[in-house]
Amino acid sequence: MPNTMHPTKRSIIFRASFVAVLILFTALCSKRDKIEDLISFEQVDSHIRFLSSDELKGRGSFSEDVRLAEDYIAEQFKGAGLEVFSEFPAYRHEFTYTYRNRRDPEAEPQKFELANIVGYLEGRDPQLKDEYVVFGAHHDHVGIRGDAEDNIYNGANDNATGTTAVITLAHYYAKTRNNKRSLLFVTFAAEERGMIGSRQIVKDLPFPIDKIAAVINFEMIGKSREEGELLCYLTGWDRSDLGSIMQESLGDSPYWLRKGSELTDRLFFASDNITFAREGVVAHTLAGIKSTNDPLMHTPGDEYETIDVDDMTQIIRGVVKASETLISGERTPEMLEPLSTRNDRP
Ligand SMILES: [Zn+2]
Repeated sequence: MPNTMHPTKRSIIFRASFVAVLILFTALCSKRDKIEDLISFEQVDSHIRFLSSDELKGRGSFSEDVRLAEDYIAEQFKGAGLEVFSEFPAYRHEFTYTYRNRRDPEAEPQKFELANIVGYLEGRDPQLKDEYVVFGAHHDHVGIRGDAEDNIYNGANDNATGTTAVITLAHYYAKTRNNKRSLLFVTFAAEERGMIGSRQIVKDLPFPIDKIAAVINFEMIGKSREEGELLCYLTGWDRSDLGSIMQESLGDSPYWLRKGSELTDRLFFASDNITFAREGVVAHTLAGIKSTNDPLMHTPGDEYETIDVDDMTQIIRGVVKASETLISGERTPEMLEPLSTRNDRP
């Protein structure tokens, strides 16, 4: 057959296929470069290092110190080029919280000025852009307690790691801009005092809450290795098909996401995802496998040095892969088990 072909024709086909291979090769390389360059160890490391440093004095929920974290996150959102909701100028969803001490009903209620940090990236599809995938994490921790030599509760794993994930994803998607659905990036205030920030934002969202396709909330992703394997779980796995959708997108990549234990199902009620789930939104928390029984949790020992930043970097890259069909609008997760008042703890 080749002998019957005109030599010029043959050379054109040869050149064309050479060019096609070259384009494919370049595309493959740039895809690999993209995720590794855009989500780098150095970038992840610099966020977690700052957010868990003593300078922030443990990011106490009602403290002045948490403002340093808020400013850092807003600055990162701005640097990434996230869009600002006019309702939340300068990426700040500010509100006043009135605290009443239940143990001392006589005491004067105290008022605190709090802020969630919020930005978004509009979707590229004219219809799907009205729908949102939310990446969230609480940015506060418990601050300073007692007068021991080290009394700063740095909250490196809880939850400077989750906050770092949200910042890193904001930078990533702002550069790739391949999202058909809109993406909302939010860090919540005062989770440690009863999910106060998320409770406020579900009331003040600038769009109807049923436009949220899914909420992926990050908690404690800095300790995620079990018997040599990198593992994260999703709280309340069976309550929706989000876990299986994400697992499917992961395919045979080395990142693992799995159903947790009974305990991790209870943790479905222990972070900001539950505030959205109570409104009927598919909302789960993604956490590192070793976080549930971490003896350093809520101690001054929850410090930067105990975090595996390399693993965190892999997890954040894994989330990009796991979220592909969500942000492209190909898949829409559904609640499988409505929240029942009888079995589910408040
Ligand atoms: Zn937490």
